[in-house]
Amino acid sequence: MSEPVETGAPEAGRDFLRDIIQSDLEAKRHATVVTRFPPEPNGYLHIGHAKSICLNFGVAQEFGGRCHLRFDDTNPTKEEQEYIDAIQADVRWLGFDWGGHLYHASDYFEQLYDWAQHLIETGKAYVDDTKLEEMRAMRGTLTEPGRPSKFRDRSPDENLDLFGRMRAGEFPNGARVLRAKIDLAAGNMNLRDPVLYRILHAAHPRTGTKWCVYPTYDFAHGQSDAIEGVTHSLCTLEFEDHRPLYDWLLDNLPVPSRPRQYEFARLNLTYTVLSKRFLTGLVQAARVKGWDDPRMPTLAGLRRRGVPAAALRNFVKAIGMARAHSVVDVAMFEHAVRELLNKQAPRYMAVLRPLKVVIENYPEGKTEELEAVNNPEDPSAGTRRIPFGRELYVERDDFMENPPKKFFRLSPGKEVRLRYGYFITCREAVKNAAGEVTELRCTYDPATRGGNAPDGRKVQATLHWVTARESVPAELRLYNHLFARPDPGANGDLLADLNPNSLEILSDCRVEPALAAANTGAAVQFERQGYFCRDKDSMPGRPVFNRTVGLRDTWAKVQAGAKVQAGAARK
Ligand code: ATP
Ligand code: MG
Repeated sequence: MSEPVETGAPEAGRDFLRDIIQSDLEAKRHATVVTRFPPEPNGYLHIGHAKSICLNFGVAQEFGGRCHLRFDDTNPTKEEQEYIDAIQADVRWLGFDWGGHLYHASDYFEQLYDWAQHLIETGKAYVDDTKLEEMRAMRGTLTEPGRPSKFRDRSPDENLDLFGRMRAGEFPNGARVLRAKIDLAAGNMNLRDPVLYRILHAAHPRTGTKWCVYPTYDFAHGQSDAIEGVTHSLCTLEFEDHRPLYDWLLDNLPVPSRPRQYEFARLNLTYTVLSKRFLTGLVQAARVKGWDDPRMPTLAGLRRRGVPAAALRNFVKAIGMARAHSVVDVAMFEHAVRELLNKQAPRYMAVLRPLKVVIENYPEGKTEELEAVNNPEDPSAGTRRIPFGRELYVERDDFMENPPKKFFRLSPGKEVRLRYGYFITCREAVKNAAGEVTELRCTYDPATRGGNAPDGRKVQATLHWVTARESVPAELRLYNHLFARPDPGANGDLLADLNPNSLEILSDCRVEPALAAANTGAAVQFERQGYFCRDKDSMPGRPVFNRTVGLRDTWAKVQAGAKVQAGAARK
């Protein structure tokens, strides 16, 4: 595995969160560890969520505890059943199982409502009629304390009555909210009487029209954790400022358990935007072809692109768990994908931009079979037979009529090796009226079958190829970064930074006959071209392949460079 780069782990497989959990268990503060992954079902999961999923489910596995999948479904205006279903499918695909522990914040609406009443009764919450705009203005600033609403000192009885009528649907959206009564001078703005409930006349995917008041994230989250007996509530750093409120609510409510919140740095990747809201915008504006467009950083997109779940898990392990904000080079992710596929993906030959080759001294009508290695990294993958004949296709790029000095591939008079096959020599390039090369006339040396000359002469290039007759026409889709710059949006406009060349479709490719029947999603390597997987858009006799990742490992280079630099610094 690659060297961890920004990991905060003190030793392999360990990090500050695992250390905390370990010591809590050793000190018997908890009998078992309980974590949760709490997505809001307002979009599809992305690779950032994979970090959180691997952490929460991983920790539970490692320490023999359990991890809950809990939908934070407190905002019905943005949430949909489609997202709920997709999130479950994605977590499963990533390799994790919540067992019987599937929950929804909406399961607790009745309990949460009771607890809100409890806060009112103990003088710790009040109904506020102040308009939202005004409320914002009255919250003060970092240097100025907030000003009290004129409704702040309503009696518990009046508050109970009004809160009940909010629930009963007597008031329109935005007319009133329930606020905690904490401290308007608190340095932490989240403690300046935060909103706990708002009126929303909207149907909920699970509770229908039963409710028209909904708890805020802050009011739902910690209490849901407590109801489920979550011991370690692991979340990203943007919730750090919410922790005092999380604690205040738990301290002031008769909750059945006492979870603790810990924060870690969210995953950021170069050339990538990880925000459900932004990704929703791309889908809605049709800037991509749906949530599973292989250019999307969603788990659905990555899966369709051919990224194995294990590669994602390896990547998350490699980046480690730290508290410091950082941006991970997307090349490191691609490296993890390549590293796994190199071991697993069977090799095939595919010609992306075909150029016809006619072997003049090969008998017409004859076909023979050559033996090809399925995976040089895995001898147990065995071999396969591939047809060879008089008419072939090679890659257009592998021929140059007037080659520069270091071009070792085909050119007039030059001899090369065909992979698993013979040496061939280019005799002539045939051109059309426009002067474009349309065909190469070549000869082969029958004594070089299997790729070696008995007289020991060498060639400097080995080319991939397919036969004209048996090969299968295919469409190959090559993906590049969705954004043209490593720091999308740095100039304030994310959309302007979309890469206009993020998708290149090659519709006249030819692949080995064996690929006519490849399974959708199964990874293959096209020799010299990259890792691909068959797309669901395939048609009988015309498969479509997505390029998962190319073969060139830019991350390995980055690492080698870093080692050279570190070595130089030590001298
Ligand atoms: P987004 O901003 O993409 O909508 P979110 O944080 O609003 O993300 P949630 O559904 O609330 O999405 O997230 C569920 C969990 O995933 C949270 O605990 C959150 O901290 C975590 N998470 C979200 N984005 C990342 C990320 N980039 N890296 C690590 N964890 C993340
Ligand atoms: Mg969120």
